[in-house]
Amino acid sequence: MHTIIGIPIAKGIAHGPVRIIHDTSMEAIERLGCNTDKEIQIFHDARIKAISEIETIRLSTKKNIGEQESKIFEAHQSILEDPELIGQVETYILEKGCCAEWALTVVGNRIRAIFEAMDNAYMKERAIDIKDITCRVVNIIMGHYNAMGPINEPYVLVAHDLTPSQTSTLETQYVKGIITEVGGKTAHSAIIATLLKIPYVVIEKGTTLLKDGDEVIFDGREGSIIIGPDMKCLDTYHEKERQLELEEEKYASLKGKACKTQDNTEVELVANISQIKDLDFIVKSDAKSVGLFRTEFIFMDQDRLPTEEEQYEIYKKITTAMSEGYVTIRTLDIGGDKESPLFNIPKEDNPFLGYRGIRLCLEEVEIFKTQLRAILRASAHGQIKIMLPMIASIDEIRKTKNILEVCKKALDLEGRAYDREIEIGIMIETPAAVVMADVFAKEVDFFSIGTNDLIQYTMAVDRSNLKISALYSQYDPAVLRSMKKIAEAAIKENISVSICGEAAADIKLLPYWLGIGIHKLSMSITLIPEVKWNISQMTSTQGIEVVETLSKASDVQDVLKVLDSSAL
Ligand code: PEP
Ligand code: MG
Repeated sequence: MHTIIGIPIAKGIAHGPVRIIHDTSMEAIERLGCNTDKEIQIFHDARIKAISEIETIRLSTKKNIGEQESKIFEAHQSILEDPELIGQVETYILEKGCCAEWALTVVGNRIRAIFEAMDNAYMKERAIDIKDITCRVVNIIMGHYNAMGPINEPYVLVAHDLTPSQTSTLETQYVKGIITEVGGKTAHSAIIATLLKIPYVVIEKGTTLLKDGDEVIFDGREGSIIIGPDMKCLDTYHEKERQLELEEEKYASLKGKACKTQDNTEVELVANISQIKDLDFIVKSDAKSVGLFRTEFIFMDQDRLPTEEEQYEIYKKITTAMSEGYVTIRTLDIGGDKESPLFNIPKEDNPFLGYRGIRLCLEEVEIFKTQLRAILRASAHGQIKIMLPMIASIDEIRKTKNILEVCKKALDLEGRAYDREIEIGIMIETPAAVVMADVFAKEVDFFSIGTNDLIQYTMAVDRSNLKISALYSQYDPAVLRSMKKIAEAAIKENISVSICGEAAADIKLLPYWLGIGIHKLSMSITLIPEVKWNISQMTSTQGIEVVETLSKASDVQDVLKVLDSSAL
C-alpha cells in the first residue's frame, strides 16, 4: 500500500480498479518485421469492434441527448468503412512490414494533416474526428480501454485529460472516480464531474504512476490516492463515506425550504447549466432559476453550427422547465479552454487572452445574431436574461445592444413574439470590468461575477496551469477586494449582482459574499444543499465582521486565518 499526493477537485470517495485511457498518439510505436497478413487481420478486427462500440454510443446518445447529437457517430462509423482509409492502412502495413497500430497512426496523422490544412471550418473539424477514431482503433489494438468503450464493471478512470464531451458521456454507474494529469477545479471536466457526483483528483504523471488494474481508493476532498489499500485503510475510507452520506442527509433536510441566514437574510441559490441534459438534474433540485447557462456547449462537438431553430428549441425547453424562475443565458463564450473548430480561431500563444467570448461574437456577427434571435424568441415562453461574457470595454456592451436592437426590429417585422423588457447583464471577469464597474453598472441590468476567469486575470495565472496553481486563489486579498468593489458598484446603481464562478460555492467564503452584499449565488446544483445548510447556520452580522477584518489582510494566509477562525 502506498500514497500519491494529488490535488482535490470533486468530492466523494472513489474505490475500484484503475482503467487508463491512453492518448495513443504518444503510445503507438513502430514495430517492424511483422507478419503482415496477421497485422491486416488485427486492423480489421479492431475496426469492426470500434464500429460496434460507436453504435452503442450512437444509440445511447440518440436516446439520452438527441438525434442531432448522435449524427456525429454515424459519421465516425462511415470513416471506419471508408475504402480510402482502409486501403492506405493495408498498403502501409504491406510496404513497411509494420504493426497495425503504427500503420493506422501514420495514416491517421497523414489524413488529419490534410484536413487541418483546409480553410473551411467544417473540414477542419473532420481532423478531430479522424484523431478520435484512430485513437479508438489503436486503443483496441493495443488492448487498452477507451472512455467511450463499453466497460461494464466499476472502475476508476485515469487519463491525461478529458474533454468536456468525454466527461459528459461517461457511464456514471461504472465510473467510480476520475484521475487526470491536468486540469483544476474550474476546468469544464471538473464542473461536469461535480454535477455527476464523480469524485475527482488531479495527479501529475497519473498515467505513469498508476497501471491498469491497480486497486485505488481516494477522497476527492483530500486529493491523495492510496494504491493497494489494506483492510484498515478500506475501513477508514468506508467510515468517511458513511460520514459523507450522513452529511448529505443533513443537507437534504432543508430541501424545499427557503435559503436564509439565522437572522432571516434571504440568499438566492440558482443553477449553473452546460447542456440540455443537465435539466433533468435541475428540475429535481432546489434551484428555481438558472444563473448561468453556458451555451458554448451547444456549439462544441458538432459538425456544423446549430441553426436558430435548433437553438430556439433548446432555450425554450429550458425556459419552459424553469417556469417558476428565470434562465440566464450566457451568449457564446467559445475560445480559451473551450475550443471548437467551427470557428476560425487562429492558433494563439495566449488563448485565454485571445479571440474569445464577446470578442469573437462581435466579429462573427451573423452567428451572434442567430443566437440572439433564438434567445429573444425563447423569451416569449418564460423569463430569460441575456448575459455577455468577457466584457472588457463599454464599447462591447453598446455594440451588443445595437445588434440586439436590430434583432428585435427584425422579429417585430416578422410578427414574432419576444420579451420586450428582456434584461441584459454582463459577466464581470476581467480586471478592466472591475475597474470600470461603476460605469458599466449604469449600462446594464445585472452583474454576475465569473470568478474562474476573474481570478486568473487578476493574478495573471493561467487557470489550467498546474505549475503555478498555488497562485490561483480565490482567497487572495486582490481577488476579495475586487469582489467588494464590484458589489459596491452594483449596489450603488441598484442592479442585481451574483457570483457564477466556482467560488460561489466556497463554504469558507460564504460569510464574505454576504458581508459585501451578494445575495445571489449560482453553482452546480450538486453543491446547493451544502451551501444552503451552511448559510442557514450563519448570521449576516458575521458576514459584516468578516469583511471588516479581511480589509486588513495582506496575503492568502491572513485571509485563511480569518476565514478558518470564523468557520461554522
Ligand atoms: C467564470 O469565468 O467564472 C465562469 C463562470 O465562466 P467559465 O468558467 O465558463 O469561463
Ligand atoms: Mg469565464
